[in-house]
Amino acid sequence: MTYSFMSPPNAGRFVLSNATLPAVAVEGYSATAIEGLVHADLIIEDGLVAGIVAPGTAPQELAKSDLRDGMVWPCFADVHTHLDKGHIWPRNNNPDGTFMGALTSVGADRATHWNAEDVRKRMEFSLRSAYAHGTNLIRTHLDSPAPQHLISFDVFGEVRDAWKDKIALQAVALFPMDDMVNETYFAELVATVKRAGALIGGVPKMGPDLTWQLDTLFRAASDNGLDVDLHVDETDDPAAETLRAIAEAVLRNGFTGKVTAGHCCSLARQDDELAKRTVELVAKAGISIISLPMCNMYLQDRYPGRTPRWRGVTLFKELAAAGVQTAVASDNTRDPFYAYGDLDAVEVFREAVRILQLDHPLDTAARVVTTSPADVAGRPDTGRIAVGRPADLVLFSARRWSEFLSRPQSDRVVLRRGKVIDRSLPDYRELDSVLGA
Ligand SMILES: [Zn+2]
Repeated sequence: MTYSFMSPPNAGRFVLSNATLPAVAVEGYSATAIEGLVHADLIIEDGLVAGIVAPGTAPQELAKSDLRDGMVWPCFADVHTHLDKGHIWPRNNNPDGTFMGALTSVGADRATHWNAEDVRKRMEFSLRSAYAHGTNLIRTHLDSPAPQHLISFDVFGEVRDAWKDKIALQAVALFPMDDMVNETYFAELVATVKRAGALIGGVPKMGPDLTWQLDTLFRAASDNGLDVDLHVDETDDPAAETLRAIAEAVLRNGFTGKVTAGHCCSLARQDDELAKRTVELVAKAGISIISLPMCNMYLQDRYPGRTPRWRGVTLFKELAAAGVQTAVASDNTRDPFYAYGDLDAVEVFREAVRILQLDHPLDTAARVVTTSPADVAGRPDTGRIAVGRPADLVLFSARRWSEFLSRPQSDRVVLRRGKVIDRSLPDYRELDSVLGA
């Protein structure tokens, strides 16, 4: 019996032979890498990776699927998403595609529609897509102005439990930092976040309140053992320097939790010296940076009647070179902040390679949707292929980068605990009941 990558053996113990692996996402195996890719046989046993050996050296008696050099990746981590906003586009779109248009539209949609059933239905839809695409770890921000925080965190808790064997879920309370002056609300929010085992986040803005807001936030996070994940400088305005302010606040407060900053677009608009100083501070403060290339390219530098001249992304390479933990993620899907997207990490990777020029060579690029985001999320047990870990793997026909990056890889096969999953995507019609037909 011969098996192909499309139908690996449904057995307790089998071999995926002649696989091509992104070396950066493999632990405990070394071989000569060509542009970051190595060849190996993977032995799968009882749902776990039981061995990573040189091609042709796995036990001959085992059932074998010859991948003919097709790639095998670990399941993906997508650590900056907005499951609560996902798919509202047909109901409230973005009339001009701008950041302000997005804020206004989402605010109106939230105020009118975001009851528990609506949020749950769209979240589940997004998770089914992400699961089918091969993702097993997601961090989502949840819009948390009162009283939305209570609704969304309740739903999130139920969804996280229901999905725990398929996708590990983390949540961040994305709240209006100006509302911190309302002490009752802020205390209740912190308690909600703590109860949910979630993170606290927000959108710090330049201004006279920034220092107080950041100090109060980090003190509250410290007192309650919370990590912090902020939306930062999502603008083309070089005067936006909240990233620097955040790094200073982390150091000033001696904050020891994990801090993540998403976007950081304006850093790429500042003069080299100023940007360099901020990058150094970010490294010193141990802040992780998530770039959202698809959403940034969509929203940034968009003005009516004018062709964009900037890709919208942060100084990804400079940050990484300074030792900052960096990753990329989906951000929004089919909502006013990004009209498209399906929580497909392969699309995110492909676009990140193009927008951020992670290629030539691609040596370690595969880390940006695997090991790096898993590490940012504090889950170094995921996002890599290693002996003893679950065989949560994505199998591709593509053998090398030019093949991988030129097609959407829609024929990929996803194994969870060594078993092929049903990769059917949910039908958009299923959302008609909440979005209107
Ligand atoms: Zn975001």
